[in-house]
Amino acid sequence: MGLVVQKYGGSSVADAEGIKRVARRIVDTKKNGHRVVVVVSAMGDTTDELIDLAEQVSPIPAGREFDMLLTAGERISMALLAMAIKNLGHEAQSFTGSQAGVITDSVHNKARIIDVTPGRIRTALDEGNIAIVAGFQGVSQDKKDITTLGRGGSDTTAVALAAALDAEVCEIYTDVDGVFTADPRVVKKARKMDWIAFEDMLELASSGSKVLLHRCVEYARRYNIPIHVRSSFSGLPGTWVSNERPQGLAPQVALRLAPHIASQGDRPVEQAIISGVSHDTSEAKITVVGVPDKPGEAATIFRAIADAEINIDMIVQNVSAAATALTDISFTLPKSEGHKAMEALTRAQAVIGFDSLRYDDQIAKISLVGAGMKTNPGVTATFFEALSNAGVNIELISTSEIRISVVTRADDVNPAVQAVHSAFGLDSDTDEAVVYGGTGR
Ligand code: ADP
Ligand code: ASP
Ligand code: MG
Repeated sequence: MGLVVQKYGGSSVADAEGIKRVARRIVDTKKNGHRVVVVVSAMGDTTDELIDLAEQVSPIPAGREFDMLLTAGERISMALLAMAIKNLGHEAQSFTGSQAGVITDSVHNKARIIDVTPGRIRTALDEGNIAIVAGFQGVSQDKKDITTLGRGGSDTTAVALAAALDAEVCEIYTDVDGVFTADPRVVKKARKMDWIAFEDMLELASSGSKVLLHRCVEYARRYNIPIHVRSSFSGLPGTWVSNERPQGLAPQVALRLAPHIASQGDRPVEQAIISGVSHDTSEAKITVVGVPDKPGEAATIFRAIADAEINIDMIVQNVSAAATALTDISFTLPKSEGHKAMEALTRAQAVIGFDSLRYDDQIAKISLVGAGMKTNPGVTATFFEALSNAGVNIELISTSEIRISVVTRADDVNPAVQAVHSAFGLDSDTDEAVVYGGTGR
């Protein structure tokens, strides 16, 4: 039998009991004849606690030292897991990202993997070991500094190793039974999918479904590595994420739009197929107030942001007031980049010539993901009606072929997601989604 890469997230190894439970599961896989490589995250909320600690010492910690600190979390869990496996009478060796050959660029806190050279992992496997690798970390090619891959980056480590080692499958073990039509912490009636295509998963992940990291799905699609997302707490089969629906799975009834939305009088309409509803509370909104309404202004604003290496998400420009010829431009970005963006804009204020800046980190983004949105105007109408019936105010809107996203107040996120999930007929009428662990932080 072939090689399997298994990744265990922080909630699966939150305490000593969790580590022992995971060790038993890994040993069972080995006993079934597989060669096993394990990628492990930091225990529980360790990474968040380390970030809080760093911020108490310095409001904007230096990237290099910040990465050095954060990688400590995964080192703790990898060593403990190797010990627990040895205690069960099996051989295991733990490796840092650098030792495992995870080579990255040198952008601290969000490094990209540029090569994987897992020579030491191959040797460890050939010698009969289970190899345990610290997730979320690597070493930069040029400076040989320790880097991290961004929050949730252990998912990417797992897929990258699976590709480099030519694994059969990359199993992502977490605290829910698979990928659902919405976050099961928010929607109890969310449905588990037994399969989802890479394309749809990419869209769910990039709009906030943190069950899989966007970059990990991109990587898996590029190297065609099937992912199996499942719970480390139950023995249930989870969700396959791959190019094509695996043979052997029972046919899945596609979640189509509820009939009342799809029918427009007697006209047959192309039905939209909904993958799910996602939400994201990790973004903030910056409003640049009083921007002169003339060519080149937006370019100067977003050049300043780009030069600070900040990725932005949604943008909206208001109509300028006729009397003043001034306008406001709002955009969203990761909260973790908020400080840097405000500084970059303040530095450029004289050149851009705006009045002031407003920073708002109490926002949420809610997205409906699925094929055929643009060709079905009923989808947008139903989406907005659902939010309005739930008393949720919309601040920004963006649409694409396969996604509609809105920004609302952070406090409104749960009722908004629940309302949209129900309005599109996604609620399960039988099962209730189980959340086995984790704090949802
Ligand atoms: P891990 O610690 O295993 O990496 P994460 O917290 O990163 O776990 O991801 C698992 C969590 O993702 C779940 O507990 C759930 O709250 C959240 N989640 C968000 N959207 C979805 C979704 N569509 N399907 C399943 N889980 C989701
Ligand atoms: N420990 C890191 C985080 O919390 C990486 C991961 O869990 O994937 O973001
Ligand atoms: Mg995760």
